[in-house]
Amino acid sequence: EAKTSGKNRYHLFNSAFYDAMRQRTKREKELRAAIAENQFVMHYQSRVDCKTSKVTSLEALVRWNHPTEGMLGPDEFIGLAEETGLILNLGELVIDLVCTQIAQWAHGVYACVPVSINVSSRQFNERDIRESIASALARHGIDGSCVEIELTESSMVVDPRRTADNLRAIHALGVKLLVDDFGTGYSSLSMLHNMAFDVLKVDKSFTSRLGIDESGEVFFRAIITMAHSLGMRVVAEGVETAEQARILEALQCDELQGFYLFRPVPAEELPGSLHLDSLSAAH
Ligand code: C2E
Ligand code: MG
Ligand code: MG
Ligand code: MG
Repeated sequence: EAKTSGKNRYHLFNSAFYDAMRQRTKREKELRAAIAENQFVMHYQSRVDCKTSKVTSLEALVRWNHPTEGMLGPDEFIGLAEETGLILNLGELVIDLVCTQIAQWAHGVYACVPVSINVSSRQFNERDIRESIASALARHGIDGSCVEIELTESSMVVDPRRTADNLRAIHALGVKLLVDDFGTGYSSLSMLHNMAFDVLKVDKSFTSRLGIDESGEVFFRAIITMAHSLGMRVVAEGVETAEQARILEALQCDELQGFYLFRPVPAEELPGSLHLDSLSAAH
C-alpha cells in the first residue's frame, strides 16, 4: 500500500517533469522557427522630457506574434531565449528591425528621435555588439545618434574591464548608453560614470513607492543629485499616476516613461506629434 502510493507519486512527478520538459522543447523549437521566419514586431514607448513635455526618445520593446497564441510579451520568451542562446540571433534581429524602422522615419516627426534597444547580458557579453550595431547602422544608412542601448547592471559584472572598453567603443559610434532597471543591482554611480553611461533609468519598483512612503522619494532625491553632479540624466520608469509625475518633476527628474504618459504601441500607432500637451497640465 505505502509502496504503491510512493510509486504513484514517483510516476506523477515523473510525468509532470516530462510534460514540462516536452513543453519547453516545443517552445524552443517554436522560438527557433520564429526567429528564422521573423514572427517578431517591435512596439515603441515614448520617453518624455519633464521640462519641455516633448518626446526625447522611444524604447523598442519586442513582441512575438505567435501563429496560434497571438501576441506574446517578452516575459514569455526572453528568459528561454537567454537560456538557450537563441537571444544572440533574436538580438541581431531586433537591431535590424529597429534600424529598418529608423530608416523609414527618415522624414516626419520621428526622424530625429533616438530609439533605445534593450541588450541582454548574453548578447552583450558573447557577441561583438559594437560590430552588430555598426554594421546595422551602415546597412541602413543611419547615424549612431539615432540609436541608444539599454543594459542592466547585471550585464556589466561578468567582466567589468571588457565591459568598459566595449562601452567606450559603442559610445564612439555616437550611440548613447543607458542603465536599465537602475537600483536593482550593485553598481556604484562612479563606476557607471566611468563606463561612459549617459542616462540612468531608475527601476519602476522605486517609482511605484512614490507617494506611498518616503523611501521612493529619498532614493530618487539622492540618485538625481549624484547623477547630475556626474553629468548623467535620470529617467523614471513605470510612471503610472499624476502624483508620481508631479513628485518626480519636483525632484528635478529629467525624463518620465510610463503608462501615465504613453503605452508601448506599434510604430503606426505612435501619435503624430512629439508634444505631450504640457506634462504639468496633465495633472
Ligand atoms: P524594460 O527594458 O525594463 O522595459 C520596461 C517594461 O515595463 C516594458 O515591459 C514596458 O511595457 C513596461 N512598462 C512601461 N511603462 C510601464 C508602467 O507605467 N507600468 C508598468 N507596470 N510597466 C510599464 P515589456 O515590454 O513586457 O518588456 C519587459 C522586459 O523585457 C523589458 O524590461 C526588457 O528587459 C525585456 N525586453 C523587451 N524588449 C526586449 C528586446 O528587444 N531585447 C531584449 N534583450 N530584451 C527585451
Ligand atoms: Mg529597457
Ligand atoms: Mg527597465
Ligand atoms: Mg525590466
